[in-house]
Amino acid sequence: MGPLMHAQANILVVDDSPENLQVISAVLKQDYRVKVAINGERALALATAAEPPDLILLDVMMPGMDGYEVCARLKQNPVTARIPVLFVSSRDDEEDEARGLSLGAIDYIVKPIRPSIVQARVRNHIELKRSRDLLEQLTTQDHLTGISNRRRFDDSLVQEWQRAARTKTPVSLIAVDIDHFKAYNDHYGHPGGDQCLMEVARALAACVTRPTDLVARCGGEEFGCLLPSTDHIGASRLAEKMRAAIEALGLEHAQSSTHRHVTISLGVSTAIPQADEPAQALVDLADAALYEAKGAGRNAFVARSR
Ligand code: GH3
Ligand code: MG
Ligand code: MG
Repeated sequence: MGPLMHAQANILVVDDSPENLQVISAVLKQDYRVKVAINGERALALATAAEPPDLILLDVMMPGMDGYEVCARLKQNPVTARIPVLFVSSRDDEEDEARGLSLGAIDYIVKPIRPSIVQARVRNHIELKRSRDLLEQLTTQDHLTGISNRRRFDDSLVQEWQRAARTKTPVSLIAVDIDHFKAYNDHYGHPGGDQCLMEVARALAACVTRPTDLVARCGGEEFGCLLPSTDHIGASRLAEKMRAAIEALGLEHAQSSTHRHVTISLGVSTAIPQADEPAQALVDLADAALYEAKGAGRNAFVARSR
């Protein structure tokens, strides 16, 4: 997200009148990249497309799907729920405004618009959105490697575990630990160790392909991989892919007592959650498998399912 922080924000303007679209776009074009939608369906499509908007200016009165309906749908979809919505309406009515705000809109602008007011409000809301995005990033991203951190991992684990309990589908977890990493640090120094962690993190993250898969740094040289809707065959295949990927990095490890290069050991667990069972059960199972993989000579994975 770093470079994006300074990129121009994207704004989506929704109105059934081409004339209004023209007027509002003209006000915002200098400072933002503006896309327009002539109806609610088009707005929803653009909101979920590549380069989603950072802010939506939404007309209330539109034929077919009105602004309230568009807003409600945006807020229901997790992908678009966090995009701030500003209603733009010619109906200067307390009840309408309250309804818009109760649907999750962040502000309400009355038509005919006054350009300086629209510019100022949009600027404020874009700044707020950027602070929120940055905070989200800081609290969920590991600062050394840039991949997800333990907080994100724990949150997602609980969520996916609950979802799997409802749908009675298997969820898998891979616990990853770098072999003989203390010796690596002692020999190559802490900065060298950090460099190694970054390369291992990047290689692990590159192994997963599904958008729902999550790779996180859970502790010093420990990583976790959460695989929703994945059985033990799929999870074992990915564990072997990860093991091979780290071996293939060919990072020299002169002090390893088992191999000449940096390697990882992996513990795979797969389970269908039982009612009210804590997600920790899946973690314990993976940890036990990891312990076995270490005992079996490292650079290996052990899988457990139940
Ligand atoms: P094993 O093969 O049994 O996993 O042995 P190990 O040495 O990897 O295991 P151990 O847990 O004893 O050592 C982990 C080491 O990881 C301890 C510390 O030197 C190093 N470490 C933990 N966090 C960091 C970090 O953020 N940066 C760096 N450079 N090193 C770290
Ligand atoms: Mg460890
Ligand atoms: Mg280790």
